[in-house]
Amino acid sequence: MASDCLFCRIVSGSIDARIVHQDDQVVAFHDISPQAPTHVLICPRQHLATLNEVTAAHEGLMGHVVRTAADLAKTLGIAESGYRLVANCQSGAGQSVFHIHFHLLGGRTFIWPPG
Ligand code: 5GP
Ligand code: ZN
Repeated sequence: MASDCLFCRIVSGSIDARIVHQDDQVVAFHDISPQAPTHVLICPRQHLATLNEVTAAHEGLMGHVVRTAADLAKTLGIAESGYRLVANCQSGAGQSVFHIHFHLLGGRTFIWPPG
């Protein structure tokens, strides 16, 4: 836990969020500024600043994130219409909170390539 990290504080419960799922490895909560009708952030409890810090030791955790996303897509009703699972790595790609998280976006049509 990094005490100066916003998402560590959400994960630990010291800052409120609209949580949709939590378990021993991840916490998922609604984005405060949703970019789609469904916009949930899936956040590992472990503090890793960017995807650049992921190693072989995190393979299980990363698999758990993807499975959680697939489960949540079904629960939230976006599995059949379609969804995006996005992780921005570094500010050049749009990352603004430096604790790894995956955006689960759905409920509207998306274009490709992304902006
Ligand atoms: P990034 O830009 O790092 O890929 O994504 C960070 C996301 O965190 C943004 O979509 C932003 O709206 C969201 N966010 C920033 N601060 C808060 C907050 O205090 N609570 C919640 N729930 N989301 C936040
Ligand atoms: Zn953190």
